[in-house]
Amino acid sequence: MSHIKFFSTNGHPERVDLRQALLAGQAPDKGLYMPESIPQIPIEKILQFSKMSYPEIAREVISPYVGDLIPDEALRAMLRDAYNFPVPVERVFDGKYILRLDRGPTCSFKDFAARLMGRMMQHFLAQEGRSILILTATSGDTGSAVAHAFYGLDSIRVVVLFPEKEVTERQRRQMTTLGGNVFPLAVSGKFDDCQALVKQAFVDMDLRGLNLSSANSINIGRLLPQAVYYFYASSRVAAEGEDAVFSVPSGNFGDLMGGLIAMKMGLPVHRFVAATNENDEFPRFTHTGIYEPIKPSKNCISNAMNVGHPSNLARLFSLYGGQMDETGRVGKEPDMQALRKDLFAVSISDAETRRTIKEAYAQHRIILEPHGAVGWAGLMRYIDECGDWSPCVSLETADPAKFPDEIVRLTGLNPPLPSAMAKLDDQEEHFQRMAGDYASLKNYLASLDRAV
Ligand SMILES: *Cc1c(COP(=O)(O)O)cnc(C)c1O
Repeated sequence: MSHIKFFSTNGHPERVDLRQALLAGQAPDKGLYMPESIPQIPIEKILQFSKMSYPEIAREVISPYVGDLIPDEALRAMLRDAYNFPVPVERVFDGKYILRLDRGPTCSFKDFAARLMGRMMQHFLAQEGRSILILTATSGDTGSAVAHAFYGLDSIRVVVLFPEKEVTERQRRQMTTLGGNVFPLAVSGKFDDCQALVKQAFVDMDLRGLNLSSANSINIGRLLPQAVYYFYASSRVAAEGEDAVFSVPSGNFGDLMGGLIAMKMGLPVHRFVAATNENDEFPRFTHTGIYEPIKPSKNCISNAMNVGHPSNLARLFSLYGGQMDETGRVGKEPDMQALRKDLFAVSISDAETRRTIKEAYAQHRIILEPHGAVGWAGLMRYIDECGDWSPCVSLETADPAKFPDEIVRLTGLNPPLPSAMAKLDDQEEHFQRMAGDYASLKNYLASLDRAV
């Protein structure tokens, strides 16, 4: 069996396989890897998914990208091991559903990608007998998902940069209570600063010896696993071959890219709702055709989506025949007509997010947290403007217990603490504080390197 090759969105001539793309994180010209061709799953196969488990569906979706790089039995074992938690699809009313992606060990949807990516990386590194340092920026949830997925692996160390004042205490504790091969850094700055520092380190020749790799959604390993749950949700709510609407609360647009890839692989989709918070550079772009990053990004209560220039737009442009570089400069316009046909983009204010949390509880007795509420509000806006459609699936990307303060204030309800989080409050924290400049990061990485 052959396997898919990946190209850089910045045009570098080299083509790589999944193993190389996964371990490198980013292409040498700072572009992002995209599959050269998107494998098709025949509709007859997709119709069988309704009788298959999550890990079985994952195998059908992921294996065309893996090809012969991982033996089938090993891949199946990885998938069973990675996806050992429930993936509830809850009916809210009339063909409207919430897909709960918050039941993994760190209670956000980022567990889906991180857990498979960690296992694949470990597989490839063991083959090559080498080690890497994962450098990752987080607005709250990537850091913990990646730290947990990689914790205790001997060939991988993880350095996580998080904006000191922009993560909740529980989010921080999920990263800082592990220790071992996990090194969290509290940066005095914003998420965008953390992301910029990480990007600079990747292209710094002085750091070559560290074997840096990325676990941010610039890594293609973060995207492909996220195509799976769209197939899964559709198999649970759609009648044979029926098109669904998916509403996706979006920050760096990795989650949405997973959905778009699923659609290009053959998943019947009517439309995607790309729901952002007040960082509305993408909704504006779909309306005006002009792309302007928001700098600095706005602090909204859906803190994992406070992104002023989503890194995955480079991939989204590529998927629609355009080109965007890592700074957000547009080299070639995408096919706007096709893009608007597939995507309904909408920005939801904090006030509307709060109102949505309140109303969803009052009317339907569902507890949403701020990110899922942005998705749900986006879906309601879609239905208002474009007419009712079913089935519709809105993604809930985190457990409400990660954001207890807002939920208590808005609903009077203290969201039940999942057991994974209950233990955090009395564990010791290990982390360092760091200024938000590149020299500080470089010094830190050098000291880490000397320590081993
Ligand atoms: C990361 C995150 C998002 C945004 O996902 P992207 O792939 O960056 O668009 C939404 N909700 C939660 C809870 C997250 O952690």
